[in-house]
Amino acid sequence: MYYHFDITYIFVIIGMLITLIASWSMKATFARFERVPSSSNMTGREVAERILRANGIYDVSVRPVSGRLTDHYDPRDKTVSLSEVIYNSTSVAAVAVAAHECGHAIQDNVGYVPLNLRSAFVPVANWGSRLSWPMIVIGVFLGTGNMSNILIQVGILMFMLAVIFQIITLPVEFDASRRAMIELKSNNILPGNEDRGAKKVLFAAAMTYVAAAASGVLQMLRLLLLFNGRGRRRN
Ligand SMILES: [Zn+2]
Repeated sequence: MYYHFDITYIFVIIGMLITLIASWSMKATFARFERVPSSSNMTGREVAERILRANGIYDVSVRPVSGRLTDHYDPRDKTVSLSEVIYNSTSVAAVAVAAHECGHAIQDNVGYVPLNLRSAFVPVANWGSRLSWPMIVIGVFLGTGNMSNILIQVGILMFMLAVIFQIITLPVEFDASRRAMIELKSNNILPGNEDRGAKKVLFAAAMTYVAAAASGVLQMLRLLLLFNGRGRRRN
């Protein structure tokens, strides 16, 4: 049994490695283009406001938030939150991130279905990731009875919900970056070849979501391998 545990742990290690590499690559790309100024000399905030207005969006506010890489769009209170570095900087990295968050605001504005699906899934995914491991651990602790099997199976199902959320996130993120690149070009915010850097920054950021989803799928496979047939074995 313990030997079995060790083998499937490889899935977890691979997932951790993928996540680490993606995160390192994103930070490196970001640091590189944080030092490249954009010729239009607009700050993240100005870029966000320009893009929102250009799309006829007037009910979304742009505000600074503390922390690093804390940038996000919240459809509930219609705010584009930009970390202070992005909000005040005119770098290619800042412009790219600001445009990406506006990409989410545009998705919301046009009723892009995957974004709505993702928003609706947030509470489910939160409960799933919070309850799955405790349920599985208690299930294992209880031994081999029916209660134990039910707990483990529901725990795995909860984990699956959290992974499904990570997968739904992918098209939403890629689409926001696609919209961002279009806006940067059409509003002449990054003229000429300047948008190449923005594309690299957004690609590296998207890869962290791909890595998170891949890691989630690997962990789920591990759970299925570990507990597959557990409920049937005693029958
Ligand atoms: Zn995003």
